[in-house]
Amino acid sequence: DTIGQHFDRTVARFGDRLALVARQQGLRWSWRELAERVDAFAAGLLTLGLKPGERIGIWSPNNAEWVITQFAAAKAGLVLVTINPAYRLAELEYALNKAGCRALVTATAFKTSDYAGMLTTLAPELDACLPGRLASPRLPKLELVVQIGARTILGALPFAEVPDLATAATRAQLAELGTRLQFDDPINIQFTSGTTGSPKGATLTHHNILNNGFFTAEAMKLTEEDRLCIPVPLYHCFGMVMGVLGCLTHGAAMVFPGEGFDPLATLQTIAAERCTALYGVPTMFIAQMDHPQFAELDVSCLRTGIMAGSPCPIEVMRRAMKLMHLRDITIAYGMTETSPVSFQTTLDDAVERRVSTVGRVHPHLEVKVVDSEGCVVPVGTPGELCTRGYSVMQGYWDDPERTAQAIDGGRWMHTGDLATIDAEGYCAIVGRIKDMVIRGGENVYPREVEEFLYRHPKISDVQVFGVPDAKYGEEICAWIKLREGEAMTEQDVRDFCRDQIAHYKVPRHVRFVDAFPMTVTGKMQKFLMRAAMEKMLA
Ligand code: ATP
Ligand code: MG
Repeated sequence: DTIGQHFDRTVARFGDRLALVARQQGLRWSWRELAERVDAFAAGLLTLGLKPGERIGIWSPNNAEWVITQFAAAKAGLVLVTINPAYRLAELEYALNKAGCRALVTATAFKTSDYAGMLTTLAPELDACLPGRLASPRLPKLELVVQIGARTILGALPFAEVPDLATAATRAQLAELGTRLQFDDPINIQFTSGTTGSPKGATLTHHNILNNGFFTAEAMKLTEEDRLCIPVPLYHCFGMVMGVLGCLTHGAAMVFPGEGFDPLATLQTIAAERCTALYGVPTMFIAQMDHPQFAELDVSCLRTGIMAGSPCPIEVMRRAMKLMHLRDITIAYGMTETSPVSFQTTLDDAVERRVSTVGRVHPHLEVKVVDSEGCVVPVGTPGELCTRGYSVMQGYWDDPERTAQAIDGGRWMHTGDLATIDAEGYCAIVGRIKDMVIRGGENVYPREVEEFLYRHPKISDVQVFGVPDAKYGEEICAWIKLREGEAMTEQDVRDFCRDQIAHYKVPRHVRFVDAFPMTVTGKMQKFLMRAAMEKMLA
């Protein structure tokens, strides 16, 4: 199937059931109501002259328009380029030009980002041109800007006006495309989180992401009775594949608490909409459980969900299962480049496995763990995780060099992550190769130290990484966020570690912080923490 074909099938099957709730916007649509908007928007885009294979960017926080755009682009055969909502001028310019976007759907503003202001700074011509007729030297490929909400840019077309442009001819063209588009056509350029540096744009096909959405939802046994709360960003595969396509393939409803992640709004949404499933990176679950109003909100409707994106501490998993009633929560591991999920726990796994591993490999994928020479290591030995199969991206968009570094001649994707796989196939992620600390010749895996420190009752969140050290090459550093109202000293932390973990793993440097540098996807940017420490220690 293409995404469009699958969409029509879901509408035919679950038409009158709830498809989407955008709580902040006060919107709730059935699959049929969503389909009417998607088809009209897609036909409107064709009327505007966009052609299959051309790129359309989206630069917006989560909202209903995002979902319409995602499905409409897929139906019209347009490659959707999902642009990080945190991007600023230079990054936006780079992404639009790199992907050669002919159109851009954008919100007006988000948090401290004035999107409209940034766009008109890049292309002042937008204030004078006719909608769809932009010609700007800094954005040479971009012709059309579609603005969500009220128009503040003169040369932009309001999102709400695009459906009115649909004609009988473009509706017919859309129907014809429904049979002409191919399942292996590229349909998305998705950017990685930028956890380790600058994000990369992965080129993904219908086949890649539709199947991955399906198998991800299968592992949770989602059905049309489920309501999935999605506080993770739509620009990222967690939201748009595991979230939107997971719901599409199983007829479940997607529920968006708001534009960006807010712990209280998420809890309130779960309670009000009686959500049965919840997605998030570990920090999001921590923020909800540690929220002062947590106990007042009834989230006992929850059943399953996914914690993923970064190491999921065992303590956090156990707390989520108990306090948030997420008895059947799963852990998933993946990366944008592999559509994204390749491992996931299932409801059939024993609880111990469910909290301490990322489960077994997804159907129809191959995996291996290799040493630095590329040889497969014995069972249980850490090495680089490699994956192969339907989910591996076509490549990084317009970047053959980086593609060749990531995908080898045998089509194996080299993940850059260290993992072990046991005799029964359960995988444990040790950490990123780049994050491993070598202190005085000893390998220290930050994850292990973090797991240990999470056990301390006063510690809410902790990040461990290496900093340069004259004597040992590298030293262990821990950034710690304490629970509300708690106090601790550096010495307390070291005393807690003494006699419990090897001396070379004990953090030499400890800093207490209120927040960590994080990507929009909620991932910890250790490279920024490391840089800050290096500056402090210099
Ligand atoms: P960038 O590649 O731009 O530096 P990123 O790797 O964080 O950013 P994503 O594609 O969003 O971009 O994330 C994939 C990475 O997230 C994986 O390579 C892995 O390091 C980490 N990850 C994902 N899920 C898990 C998990 N369950 N446990 C541990 N790490 C995980
Ligand atoms: Mg990555």
